[in-house]
Amino acid sequence: MSYNAVETIVAKRDGGHLEDAQISWLINAYTNGTIADEQMAAMAMAVLFRGLDDAELNAWTNAMINSGERLNFDGLARFAVDKHSTGGVGDKITLILAPLVAACGAAVPQLSGRGLGHTGGTLDKMEAIPGWQAYLDDAGMRHQLETVGAVICAAGADLCPADKKLYALRDVTGTVESIPLICSSIMSKKIAEGAHGLVLDVKVGSGAFMKTPERAHELATRLVGLGKGAGVATVALLTDMSTPLGLTAGNALEVAEAVEVLAGGGPADIVELTLALAREMVALAGLDVDPADALADGRAMDVWHALVRAQGGDPEAPLPASRHSDDIVAAASGFVTRLDAYDVGVAAWRLGAGRARKEDAVQAGAGVVLKVKPGDKVVKGDVVMTLHTDTPERFADARRALEDALEIGPTAPPPTPLVIDRVV
Ligand code: URA
Repeated sequence: MSYNAVETIVAKRDGGHLEDAQISWLINAYTNGTIADEQMAAMAMAVLFRGLDDAELNAWTNAMINSGERLNFDGLARFAVDKHSTGGVGDKITLILAPLVAACGAAVPQLSGRGLGHTGGTLDKMEAIPGWQAYLDDAGMRHQLETVGAVICAAGADLCPADKKLYALRDVTGTVESIPLICSSIMSKKIAEGAHGLVLDVKVGSGAFMKTPERAHELATRLVGLGKGAGVATVALLTDMSTPLGLTAGNALEVAEAVEVLAGGGPADIVELTLALAREMVALAGLDVDPADALADGRAMDVWHALVRAQGGDPEAPLPASRHSDDIVAAASGFVTRLDAYDVGVAAWRLGAGRARKEDAVQAGAGVVLKVKPGDKVVKGDVVMTLHTDTPERFADARRALEDALEIGPTAPPPTPLVIDRVV
């Protein structure tokens, strides 16, 4: 059955309910070019203001899944479990988590993306490793899951082509923040990817899409509902993204920090969040093991080496370093009361770690190294951050982004939990 694009937009604009067949037609017609970008932009804005009810969200997500291929890991000897983060600053958790959970006995098919805006992307980080390549075909991915247990790679062009088109449109039309559009975008890819279990890391705070716990909770509840409705065992953790994770934001800088954690060290917040997510993943996989053991005894590091080598990389090769650095010092003495994730993300992006347009290249060595975290004591003149880039003309812009990023007060702030809530 065929519908009319303008009538469909007007129906949603005026708060009406769209039928399953109407949504399926809409997504299909947009993917094949029958509906123009400007019409879909109007539709996305109508959805942003009016929302989608549960039936509409299911239909929207299914239509996006059906726009492309579906992977299937049913024949694998191991339970396939994946993690998805809604995006943050300094979030290098996947690099540690994928090999760690594979070392515990699950298969981890981690289809990842690139950074856009102030948030980093796992593929950009991994590509800082000399030789590592992100593109595997389905057979290569399955082979690596059978031999290594984990794969981190780009989603193929055939996986949810509707999302690729719609996400790019949302990015330039101010419609990224719609909860139903985020849900259908994330879950269509995750369901099409064929994992049996999924753990969602829903970020909350200045560096996240969701700035308040209420919105993050709503997002998590709808994501989990979609996953379970599609037969994927799904759990979400709400985690703090008001301050960057760990001490680095930037591609090679974050790889180095992830390797430190795999070697048994690294910042406490990274270790805590990695283990919290890993415990959820192994529980979904039905494995009675503690991931902390596989991290401590080096098994996770062994899988990391195998994963990097299997994808053409050299895990022992020196990582690229930026040619220039610039220190930022504390303007006063006291305790760090706030270190803003968004501002640090923007600074790393401006230094060259991120891209302004999808086709831009990133600098592997660029980014920000933090010397302090909220709660730390500082003395006026101490170095609190170091900026890295190959193009020093970027320092001034990055410094501007950081003007209000750090607050210093007379007393230490109360500690805030990293894992804020769990939604099942
Ligand atoms: N990540 C996605 O894949 N899609 C969104 O809409 C937001 C974050």
